[in-house]
Amino acid sequence: MTMPLLDTRGRPLRDLRISVTDRCNFRCTYCMPKEIYGKDFQFLEREQLLSFGEIHRLVRIFKDHGVEKIRITGGEPLVRRKLEVLIEMLAYHDTLDLTLTTNASLLKQKARALKDAGLKRITVSLDSLDNTTFMAMNDVDFPVEKVLAGIEEADRVGLNPIKINMVVKRGVNDHSVVDMARFFKGSGHIVRFIEFMDVGHTNGWKMQHVVPSRELAARIDEALSIEPIDPNYRGEVAERWRYRDGSGEVGFISSVTQAFCRDCTRTRLSAEGQLFTCLFATQGTDLRTLLRTEASDDEISDAIARVWHARTDRYSEIRTEDTAKQRKVEMSYIGG
Ligand code: SAM
Ligand code: SF4
Ligand code: SF4
Repeated sequence: MTMPLLDTRGRPLRDLRISVTDRCNFRCTYCMPKEIYGKDFQFLEREQLLSFGEIHRLVRIFKDHGVEKIRITGGEPLVRRKLEVLIEMLAYHDTLDLTLTTNASLLKQKARALKDAGLKRITVSLDSLDNTTFMAMNDVDFPVEKVLAGIEEADRVGLNPIKINMVVKRGVNDHSVVDMARFFKGSGHIVRFIEFMDVGHTNGWKMQHVVPSRELAARIDEALSIEPIDPNYRGEVAERWRYRDGSGEVGFISSVTQAFCRDCTRTRLSAEGQLFTCLFATQGTDLRTLLRTEASDDEISDAIARVWHARTDRYSEIRTEDTAKQRKVEMSYIGG
């Protein structure tokens, strides 16, 4: 039976983001800068990662606590071998809304297997359609055209509608915003513009790099005419806007300029089984040790309930230039 689990601010636990690897084949400058994630960087070893069986066991327990949505992420989730096997295990729970976020570098090859395993939707990250800008941002010279080929294949096999995430950094890719909107207008896919965030402590975040969503919405409105619409449900992360000519919608994720902690129902599981109750956490709770000792499902369930009951997080509401400098867990580890 599903028991509602509430934190100290009355927020239920509804979403679980699962990082399946801390590795990635990109070095996006705002996420895994090369200077830190070079060839000497110590990634997790295979035996440190939760197995698919361990993840599935936790998902069953989280589901009993009211989790309705699962997002598979990383690092780059598609670099985890045989990910479709995990998807198949989780897709068995047909009441769970199961999705995945990817940089799409391997999507063309993987889309069919993911769809066949039971995945319904995906989110693709793409920061510019301008090749020079995109290659500089992923910092491994990965071309736009291959990401578009991945999106096309995902669409063809029925992993849609596709959400396209674009992190916007002032002076780096904000000139690509209107082009991005225009390109996907009328395609059925939804572009979501994300404010550059001070996740982790290695991406050199400064407030002047953030382009407020309000400014982006005004720029898109001027070129393509959009208007705000109601959220699909309370606590929806992206603010929705639609084209006035009926050719679809775009979203804005404004975690810096319009914090949405009040309705935040998300928790995150790292690839090695640490549980985090906020994207900006400095500390997690180890579930792997419980999984690998003789703990029963009830004991693990109680441990999760204790963590959620004690949750006070509202980082984005209290962010300052000083908190931005704190040593937080990196997004590629915690799961974006
Ligand atoms: N590798 C996959 C990808 O890029 O889609 C999944 C993991 S990635 C950490 C998840 C999302 O976090 C991506 O859409 C990425 O653009 C976003 N992200 C990473 N660092 C960010 C930052 N500093 N500010 C805002 N979004 C960020
Ligand atoms: Fe990799 Fe995604 Fe981070 Fe880019 S945003 S470095 S693709 S994990
Ligand atoms: Fe949720 Fe933390 Fe983000 Fe606030 S800052 S919305 S509590 S993840």
